[in-house]
Amino acid sequence: MRRFQLALPRSIDDCLKSLGEHGGEAKVIAGGTDLLPQLKNGLLKPPCVVDLSGVAALRAMSHDARGGLRIGAAVTARALEVDAHLRSAYPMVAESAALIGSVQVRNLATVGGNLCNAAPSADMAPPLLALEAEAIVVGPGRERRVPLASFFSGVRRTVLAPDELLVEIDLPAPEPRSGGHYLRHTPRRELDIAVVGVASQITLTDGVCGKARIALASVAPTPVRAVAAEEALVGQPMSPELIERAAELAGEAARPISDQRGSADFRRHLVRVLTRRTLTMALERARRGSREA
Ligand SMILES: Cc1cc2nc3c(=O)[nH]c(=O)nc-3n(C[C@H](O)[C@H](O)[C@H](O)COP(=O)(O)OP(=O)(O)OC[C@H]3O[C@@H](n4cnc5c(N)ncnc54)[C@H](O)[C@@H]3O)c2cc1C
Repeated sequence: MRRFQLALPRSIDDCLKSLGEHGGEAKVIAGGTDLLPQLKNGLLKPPCVVDLSGVAALRAMSHDARGGLRIGAAVTARALEVDAHLRSAYPMVAESAALIGSVQVRNLATVGGNLCNAAPSADMAPPLLALEAEAIVVGPGRERRVPLASFFSGVRRTVLAPDELLVEIDLPAPEPRSGGHYLRHTPRRELDIAVVGVASQITLTDGVCGKARIALASVAPTPVRAVAAEEALVGQPMSPELIERAAELAGEAARPISDQRGSADFRRHLVRVLTRRTLTMALERARRGSREA
């Protein structure tokens, strides 16, 4: 690994100062579970690494005025996995966090790192996308809210400028009679990445589906929404046949590649299976009105 300067800021302002001092060449490190292998493999050779671990503001979770949840970018997957409120109000976010690596990895891995690393297989992206989360991004003298749907720009690329920091992910308040679920397929039970991941979120209104969001991982350069499948559900009474139709449409929204981990056809098949299963569980949760994980 090439030698680099390590910055240990205690505040967001100091992070921005360190990022600004190296002409866009510095890299942020949160848990390091993605970044360190990239440094060791020589894929990245930053002159400076800015460590977020001393910035308490990035590790906080709090409610906003409208009952939504604000999750600091450096909150770990383990903290999300075990948080009682999250498990009850946004179960699929806790479910996706619980799938990351092993408990040792989850004690380091952060939600911000998962999103900023922007792997097509990132497990926390589909549930946050389906919940219409917003990323709060700060740069020198500016702050912007980026809907997660516009956050990813390609494989391992986001809309973040080199001098910007993701500070928070904001979730809207959970709607009444809503439910969500995230599932992924991996050949191995643990320590593997998603061949396909699907998050489904639905809201029931007057006995029909009032709103549906379906987000897919590992089937395109970025996490994507299956919009035609969502539209097929809205305004309809939920039934197994309707769920099957939405699953078919979600399969058509996928643009997977074939690689050593699965062919494109296999991935499309998995999208159909996982969409059916996640919608079925999302419906059960919405009907229960209870949003327990
Ligand atoms: C053994 C193992 C198993 C894994 N299993 C899974 C899995 O099952 N599912 C999965 O999705 N991932 C998995 N991962 C990948 C990784 O653990 C996750 O993506 C994790 O959430 C990354 O978070 P981190 O804090 O470690 O990120 P880091 O490695 O610290 O950072 C990742 C990238 O994001 C940038 N970054 C981090 N925070 C910010 C911020 N606030 N603002 C701007 N840029 C930022 C960094 O500069 C870097 O480019 C695994 C990794 C390992 C080593």
